[in-house]
Amino acid sequence: MSKKNDPFCNKKSIKAQIYYETKYMNVLYNLYPVVKGHTLIVPKRHVGDLNGLSEKEAVDLIKTIRYVTPKLLRAYKADCSYNLVAQVGPYSGRSIEHLHLHIIPRNKYDMYSD
Ligand SMILES: [Zn+2]
Repeated sequence: MSKKNDPFCNKKSIKAQIYYETKYMNVLYNLYPVVKGHTLIVPKRHVGDLNGLSEKEAVDLIKTIRYVTPKLLRAYKADCSYNLVAQVGPYSGRSIEHLHLHIIPRNKYDMYSD
């Protein structure tokens, strides 16, 4: 996938999904949520993995996760549970080469529960 076809490098294509942003990160609703509240944190600059982030971007990413996650869990009654996932590299199952972290609120009654 070239940067040209990369939705995370095209602010127009993700504009409607963005519900929070910082200087370096966009926070998006996932178009294909596995559960309600499935969120993506995406660096505004194109990087392929965590090591591609500058020091300031890396700090901002962690701060953004820490800011957004508790609100998300409250909003989706997620019982203090979530998955934080990044698929990095060609064999990870990623669909977009632009680094993005998934925050997936979890609760007792979601699709993965027994
Ligand atoms: Zn990109």
